[in-house]
Amino acid sequence: MAQATATVPALTQLTEDEKMLRDAARDFAETYIKPKVQEMDEAAKLDKDLIQQFFDMGLMGIEIPETYSGGGGSFFMSIVAIEQISRVDASTGVFMDVQNTLVNNAFLNWASDDVKERYLPQLATEKVGAYCLSEPGAGSDAFSLKTKAKEDGEDYILNGSKMWITNAHEADIFLVFANVNPEAGYKGITAFIVERDFEGFSVSKKENKLGIRASSTCEILLEDCRVPKENVLGEVGKGYKVAIETLNEGRIGIGAQMVGVAQGSLDAALDYTQEREQFDQPISDFQGVQFQLAKMATDIETARLLVYNAARLKENGETFLKEAAMAKYHASEVAERVSSTAVDLFGGYGYVKEYPVEKYYRDAKIGKIYEGTSNMQLNTIAKLLLK
Ligand SMILES: Cc1cc2nc3c(=O)[nH]c(=O)nc-3n(C[C@H](O)[C@H](O)[C@H](O)COP(=O)(O)OP(=O)(O)OC[C@H]3O[C@@H](n4cnc5c(N)ncnc54)[C@H](O)[C@@H]3O)c2cc1C
Repeated sequence: MAQATATVPALTQLTEDEKMLRDAARDFAETYIKPKVQEMDEAAKLDKDLIQQFFDMGLMGIEIPETYSGGGGSFFMSIVAIEQISRVDASTGVFMDVQNTLVNNAFLNWASDDVKERYLPQLATEKVGAYCLSEPGAGSDAFSLKTKAKEDGEDYILNGSKMWITNAHEADIFLVFANVNPEAGYKGITAFIVERDFEGFSVSKKENKLGIRASSTCEILLEDCRVPKENVLGEVGKGYKVAIETLNEGRIGIGAQMVGVAQGSLDAALDYTQEREQFDQPISDFQGVQFQLAKMATDIETARLLVYNAARLKENGETFLKEAAMAKYHASEVAERVSSTAVDLFGGYGYVKEYPVEKYYRDAKIGKIYEGTSNMQLNTIAKLLLK
């Protein structure tokens, strides 16, 4: 056999562009987000200036082509940026995650040229987007949604309500899924672009949450909401495809958010255990503590590799459904486990808000719930194994 000469980069070896964005996102998070994290968590509100900074940094339109005023970057770049922001704060992490991996992504894959021209420059530079699929009675079984859309001349009239909508408080552009023909079941589901000031649209109750408190999660009301026909995203009756395909990719973003949460927890624990002394020595000198740190780091590495691999597969046009489900499932388990160990390693100080780890622990829990619960990820993985 001839000597193999070609080298294939390892999953954690990034391109120059990826490294640049990773480092810029990390610096931005450390310098500008970190000082505001506790205040935003307590106020359950994103800082207004930070929102603008996210746009100025190009973090809200990473994959949007430069011709539409976006960053012209890649999906993988969004993933590393989400990880770095979430390492400092999972609320701002999901703020940019929803914009990039769900909203922008849906527009990039499904919008006509006219719709792209009208909306992508706004999403890249100034307007926050939200993704409105879930309803009070339709969560895991998302396609049982009850919101209806009825044709009326040049418009559709939407009626119904949406629940748990991330970014709803800050957003101007809402991607709303409604059924134009309930008798056709999921084949009636259609994606509509709804602007905040459209007649009959309103943002209602804001949830008071366990974690990612600064990220807004609200109910949306659609009461005879008038949406022009040119604001259908993709084809009428193909909204289920828009939703499935977008969420398949979005899931990798949540995996990245959870890797960030886990890494932030470990970094805090590494600093603390080297400073805190008991029995006249830093607690990091105890082998028991060292083993806990080593397990946390190993756990994070497994989650990161799954997330990066799913992102690379997606980017290379390979099938990635099973890998994306595994990445999200595993990364959210890891985030919960690692942040819990971080609380343990801080002792009593881990249980109070003066230190960062109780927040990581609260924030980690959401990974198992949104964009498909852990059970739903296991359903997907099992279905693909047994087919
Ligand atoms: C903070 C937050 C932000 C969110 N952001 C958004 C958003 O921006 N846009 C949006 O559209 N939605 C959003 N969601 C909604 C989220 O996607 C749903 O909460 C999630 O899909 C679960 O739906 P559910 O809450 O109705 O739970 P249910 O579907 O009622 O599930 C309850 C339990 O039953 C289990 N279960 C259900 N069906 C099965 C099954 N077939 N097999 C095994 N177990 C099953 C679930 O795993 C879970 O443990 C958000 C939710 C939260 C909490």
